[in-house]
Amino acid sequence: MQSGTAQKISNAILSGAAGFASFIFSLSALLYITELDGKIVASLVAGTFCLLISYLASERPNSESARALSALSERLLAVEDGDLVSPAPVAVRRAMPKLAAAVDRLFEEVRASIENAQALGMYDPVTSLPNRLHFRSEADKLLGGVTAGTKAAMLFVDLDRFKSVNDNLGHARGDQLLIMVANRLRMVVTAEHGETAARRPLLARLAGDEFTIFFPKVDSLTEIERVARRVAQAIAEPFELYGHSVDIGASVGVSVTPDHGNSIESLMRAADIAMYCAKARGGGQHCLFNEELAADHQSKIETEKSLAEALQRGELELVLQPQLSLISGEVVGAEALLRWNHPREGLRMPDTFIPIAERTGMIAELGDWVTSEVALLLAEWMRDDFAHRLAFNVSPRQLERTDFFPRLRQSFADHEVPLSLIELEFTESAAMDASQAVLSEIAALRADGARIAIDDFGTGYSNIARLRSMPLDRVKLDPSLIADIETSAKARIVVQAVVHLINGVGCEIVAEAVETAAQADILRAMGCQTVQGYVFAQPMSEAAYRAWVSRAGNPARSVA
Ligand code: C2E
Ligand code: MG
Ligand code: MG
Repeated sequence: MQSGTAQKISNAILSGAAGFASFIFSLSALLYITELDGKIVASLVAGTFCLLISYLASERPNSESARALSALSERLLAVEDGDLVSPAPVAVRRAMPKLAAAVDRLFEEVRASIENAQALGMYDPVTSLPNRLHFRSEADKLLGGVTAGTKAAMLFVDLDRFKSVNDNLGHARGDQLLIMVANRLRMVVTAEHGETAARRPLLARLAGDEFTIFFPKVDSLTEIERVARRVAQAIAEPFELYGHSVDIGASVGVSVTPDHGNSIESLMRAADIAMYCAKARGGGQHCLFNEELAADHQSKIETEKSLAEALQRGELELVLQPQLSLISGEVVGAEALLRWNHPREGLRMPDTFIPIAERTGMIAELGDWVTSEVALLLAEWMRDDFAHRLAFNVSPRQLERTDFFPRLRQSFADHEVPLSLIELEFTESAAMDASQAVLSEIAALRADGARIAIDDFGTGYSNIARLRSMPLDRVKLDPSLIADIETSAKARIVVQAVVHLINGVGCEIVAEAVETAAQADILRAMGCQTVQGYVFAQPMSEAAYRAWVSRAGNPARSVA
């Protein structure tokens, strides 16, 4: 039991604490509107308050009040994780109802300030950073103040692999991660440039996983590149997200005045282009804008535009490359490969346009076109009693569309083509990253007769357990695995081990890009069942394929 005097002292301390808290939080609410980083202020205040509470708790360690204060301290620390909503803990409510009420009211005020600022449309509700609009107008003002002879710089930061966090851990965790990223960016920016108002950078969240930082004054390119490197390093460190260690990264594009532009718009465009360069180099790094990148970007934009027209103008074509059994020598099917008959540039191979189509999302339309072409071809072949299986490639981006599988089924149903005549090739990473829902759809297709293959196996990372459990018929070895098998004993050991593994999980092996008879012999001896490669045939038009199959002597091997 506490004595009466002690109780009075305690009450005095606690009401003092409540008053102090009230003052600090009201101040933070006010600051919130004027400062860009409101939640940081709230966190700072919470931190200060926690110190005070810890001090009080340590003075009187075993009392009910001390436990309540410790619970309150925990509640305030949760502000670090963005919690401005939970009420004061029950222990506080019971032991110190006045303080609890004060805390609740102050959080209410902070929330109201945040909502107010957001209502003004200036801040991003998740990270509390300025949004795109606000950034544009503030950066414009800062750029206006840049004196001749000094450099300003723009950093465009795009997260790598953020989508998979959202997909696998959910959007709430994704938001949490964005808050953590924003905090790390704030730390780097403050550590690097926060000291004087004239140099203070402007950090913003543009959209999704895109952030941007404008530096109104930098001394040199070396300096801003060092900052960009630090940004990439800061995001490369794992994030602790509710018990999950999450590895993402950031691709950072850099542009500076006057070399890459004199307006915020041109600097942002240049930094965006440079960011794509960092992304193309594997992410987790920065790139400085240059003219070569600009030209490269321009040509991609032109490809993008003309690709959209290519579909309408009928410039796309499928060529077929035969697949042969290494055991019987029979043609067992073919792979359909895209070609683009470009009106000015002539024949364009897929590597010059598929990556662009994947980036822009255009691959969905290309994929639809490929699917319907394959369905048309197979329907025609069935009428001609030429029942050969056709494999075709499915891009990982196609799987993002929720209606991919029903549309695919519909295409073949419309032409009364049985699914046993098709084979779907998924990339190794698409197969490994596929969600349970996608795997079930794949399993259902396979149950209905379609064959499932993993393409270019050996270039990505494979989860052996997934390989064993996946609905799968064939694995296509990446050409890089077999390129040296004639000359290198090590290459042979690796291929032999892979062949054992794949056969061991009950799948057939297809060796791709087999260019010599010696390679085919080695692969046959190793237990590989099927080959596709220039040694037997190049990809060819449909008419040429049918003629080729007739010459090869098995014109109508039924697979249905
Ligand atoms: P892929 O699916 O692995 O296709 C095999 C590639 O290997 C083809 O290149 C083929 O021409 C090539 N190849 C076959 N035999 C040999 C050989 O003996 N030596 C060498 N050096 N190469 C050989 P292609 O047609 O340029 O296609 C490249 C990639 O483009 C394909 O690789 C595939 O990933 C993608 N692609 C092609 N068509 C489509 C499509 O309709 N949709 C999607 N999403 N991707 C496609
Ligand atoms: Mg393929
Ligand atoms: Mg392949």
